[in-house]
Amino acid sequence: MSVAQHTLSQEAMALENKYGAQNYHPLPVVLSRGEGVYVWDVEGKIYYDFLSAYSSVNQGHCHPKILSALNEQANELTLTSRAFYNDKLGKYEKFTTEYFGYDKLLPINTGAEAVETAIKLCRKWAYEVKGIDINDAQIVVCKNNFHGRTTTIISFSSDPVARKNFGPYTEGFIKIEYDNLKELEDVLINNDNVAGFLVEPIQGEAGVFVPSEDYLVKAKALCDKYNVLFIADEVQTGIARTGRLLASCGNCNCETKSCEGTPDVKPDILVLGKALSGGVYPVSAVLANNEIMGVIRPGNHGSTFGGNPLASAVAMAALEVVKDERLAENAERLGIIFREAMNEYIKTSKICKLVRGKGLLNAVVINDTEDGDTAWEICLRLRDNGLLAKPTHGNIIRFAPPLVMTEDQLKECINIIISTLKEFE
Ligand SMILES: *Cc1c(COP(=O)(O)O)cnc(C)c1O
Repeated sequence: MSVAQHTLSQEAMALENKYGAQNYHPLPVVLSRGEGVYVWDVEGKIYYDFLSAYSSVNQGHCHPKILSALNEQANELTLTSRAFYNDKLGKYEKFTTEYFGYDKLLPINTGAEAVETAIKLCRKWAYEVKGIDINDAQIVVCKNNFHGRTTTIISFSSDPVARKNFGPYTEGFIKIEYDNLKELEDVLINNDNVAGFLVEPIQGEAGVFVPSEDYLVKAKALCDKYNVLFIADEVQTGIARTGRLLASCGNCNCETKSCEGTPDVKPDILVLGKALSGGVYPVSAVLANNEIMGVIRPGNHGSTFGGNPLASAVAMAALEVVKDERLAENAERLGIIFREAMNEYIKTSKICKLVRGKGLLNAVVINDTEDGDTAWEICLRLRDNGLLAKPTHGNIIRFAPPLVMTEDQLKECINIIISTLKEFE
C-alpha cells in the first residue's frame, strides 16, 4: 500500500472520528463502491461482503433492477406525505400483502420503527379486542433480544451497553428465556394481561441462536391457546436470508422446497425491514390481518416518510428480485455447503468451536472469552485477505453474504475463511 493510498482511508476515518458521534466501532476499512457480493475500498481493494449491512443487502449491492426502480421513481415523485394519496403506495401494499399472505400492511421506515408499530398495534388490540384493562397490557419478550434502539425497545433489552443511563424505561414487558417453551407457558398461565409475544425466529444480533426445531410452532400454538398475538421480528431473518422467504415461514406463498411439509407458523403480526428494500433505502413494514390491523384508525400512528412512492417502488422491485432470482433456494443450498465445510474444519481446529445458522445467516464461535479480542483480530486478518465480517458479542463472528452469491464464489470465500483461521491456530 503506497503512502498516498494509505492517506485516503486514514482521511475518511479521521473525519468520522473527529466530526461524528462515536456510537459505533467500525472495522477499519473505508468503502466507496459495491456490486453484487463485492465491495471496494477507497484504495480500490476488492472484498467479499460477509455482513451485507446486517442482512439488508440480500439482493446484492446496487442491484440494477432495484436501482432502476429507484431512479425512475426519483424522477417522478419522491414524497407526498400521507396527507394525500400517491399512485405507488396502494400497488405496493397489494403486492406485498399478497406476497406474504396478509390482509394489510402498515408502511414505515426503519426496523425499530416497525417494532414500535407492532408494539402499539398489539397494545391497542389488547384493549379494544381482547379486553385487557387500560394500561395493564404486557408483552412477553426474550432475553438477549435485539429489536432496535428506541427508548421503549431498549427498555426490554438485556444488553447493559444499550440500556445504561437511558432510563426511565418503558413498562409493560416480561422477559423470558429464548427457546424455552415452559417459561412461555408459565407466563401465559399466570397472567391474563399478556397481549403479545415478540420474538426473533433466530436471534441474529445475540450471535445467530437458532432455536429448537419445534420452538416457533409450539410457541405459536401456546399464543393461540391463550389469545396472545405472536409477533415475529423478521427484520434480519426475513426476505430469504435463512433459506426461506420468512424464517417463521407461514402461508407466505414461498416456493422453497424446504418449506414443503413444514408446519405452518403464521405470525399474527409480521415485522419486516432491512432487505425489504435491498439495502437501497430505509423501508420497513408491519403486516397483519384485518381483525388486528383494523384497530388502527386515522391519527393513531404514522410517519412523514412512511409509504412514500420512492420506498414503495424500491421495495416492490426488491421483493421481485428475491423471487425472480430464487434467492431463498440459493441461500438454503449455499448455507448447507458453508456449514458442512466449516464443520469439517472445526473437527481439527482449536481456535474455532462451532458453526451454527440457517441458510446464509451463520456464525462461528471462536475459542476465546466473550471479552477477548481474537474474533476482532480474525476479522482484521479476514479484511486483509479480502473478506469483510464483524464480530458480534466478542467471540462470535457472523457470516451473512448477499444471497446472490454463486457456489464458486462461496467456495473461494470458504478458502479465505479457513486459511485465515489457520493463521490463528
Ligand atoms: C436490525 C434489526 C432491527 C432494527 O432495525 P433498524 O433499521 O436498525 O432500526 C430490529 N430487529 C431486528 C431483528 C434487527 O436485526
